[in-house]
Amino acid sequence: MSRSAHPAGPRHADVMTEGHYSAPAADLNVLDEKVWARTVTRDADGALTVGGIAVARLAEEFGTPAYFLDESDFRARCRAWADAFGPDADVFYAGKAFLSRAVVRWLQEEGLNLDVCSGGELTTALDAGMPAERIAFHGNNKTVAEIERAVEVGVGRIVLDSFQEIVRVAHIARSHGVRQRVQIRVTVGVEAHTHEFIATAHEDQKFGIALADGQAAEAVRRTLALDSLELIGIHSHIGSQIFDMAGFEVSARRVVQLLAEVRDEHGVELPEIDLGGGLGIAYTSEDDPREPHDIAKALSDIVTRECESAKLRTPRISVEPGRAIVGPTAFTLYEVGTIKPLEGLRTYVSVDGGMSDNIRTALYDAEYSVALVSRTSEAEPMLVRVVGKHCESGDIVVKDAFLPADLAPGDLIAVPATGAYCRSMASNYNHALRPPVVAVRDGEARVIVRRETEEDLLRLDVG
Ligand SMILES: *Cc1c(COP(=O)(O)O)cnc(C)c1O
Repeated sequence: MSRSAHPAGPRHADVMTEGHYSAPAADLNVLDEKVWARTVTRDADGALTVGGIAVARLAEEFGTPAYFLDESDFRARCRAWADAFGPDADVFYAGKAFLSRAVVRWLQEEGLNLDVCSGGELTTALDAGMPAERIAFHGNNKTVAEIERAVEVGVGRIVLDSFQEIVRVAHIARSHGVRQRVQIRVTVGVEAHTHEFIATAHEDQKFGIALADGQAAEAVRRTLALDSLELIGIHSHIGSQIFDMAGFEVSARRVVQLLAEVRDEHGVELPEIDLGGGLGIAYTSEDDPREPHDIAKALSDIVTRECESAKLRTPRISVEPGRAIVGPTAFTLYEVGTIKPLEGLRTYVSVDGGMSDNIRTALYDAEYSVALVSRTSEAEPMLVRVVGKHCESGDIVVKDAFLPADLAPGDLIAVPATGAYCRSMASNYNHALRPPVVAVRDGEARVIVRRETEEDLLRLDVG
């Protein structure tokens, strides 16, 4: 279907002026493989399948809304990152993107390490058998109890985020009679080209210690002076959903400069640098993510070059992809409930979930795509806004998209690329029951996080 075939008039013009408009794909039935998990395809009847199972069967067995995660895609992405970085680097999966016991086991089997940033994430990791030395502990306000637990179980590294924390971790390590491996998180003054609330390395923010004004150098000085801390490197994380490597280039250069200053002042060459995560994925056909191999090569070239010019031994690099591993591997399946055409504006399509299972659109103005997946359709494209069932007009899942004009209640639609920061940010708003995560692989589907029940809600309510 060509663009000219879709209804012209005010509706069309309105979206153009908002600037979110993109022409419908030539054929709405064609799934853009960039945004869908690897094993997703349409079967002979036109229904979407993942891991060889049709969505109608999945909806019948597991209900909607639900997240379906392509396990072989997840594992393939882990391997791609591990292979791309090779034996001289470490890949830490950022657990906050989505963490469950099954995920922790997959990470172990595929040779990845794990970042956690709370006691809850640490508990999940340990419970699923992740060796503590393969865990890094992050956060700008780790509690004393969390630090104690991390030190006791022997996490591989704690990433120090403030001057107070240097002293706090040192004290706890000393009282446990251990020398804790640590990194210092610095802010390098780079603002990644992404939404303000998810850009984290410019200076006006809560994370890290600024390189500017010699603050990071002072943090190194204090850390090196404490016997119970072993400073293994410098950490920097510049933002999220980043496509442009220029930010990493500046960040790596500044971190290497700090390593050179540390060598000059203290005579020590810190052995590691961690460049964080933040690599972008395709949410819509307009996004062009890089392959892990390209990213690894770009980062290691930058670090090698900078170290050569500073006459430093090249440190071991670590990276922390979260979204880039899990994001593309899952989609959310919804059932269409009501359809409300607003003359001259757009058609509101309400689904059985919403901001409780995907807050990113409301929180960051995130863009998503959507497709009719229980069948194909030859109907004209209609401009839609996919909204949830919550009591907020900002309860939007997909702001602007096209779905076939014959869409009807009971149809299943799916939003791809919801593996990261959707279930992990899900809420019980309106006492919604958080949806399950179902792993699908080679014709088998199994629940890895079950759907919440009303009993779960009432169990917490002890008044
Ligand atoms: C959030 C975060 C990550 C992961 O970010 P993605 O965008 O999911 O890759 C990595 N490291 C740190 C320190 C983070 O805060």
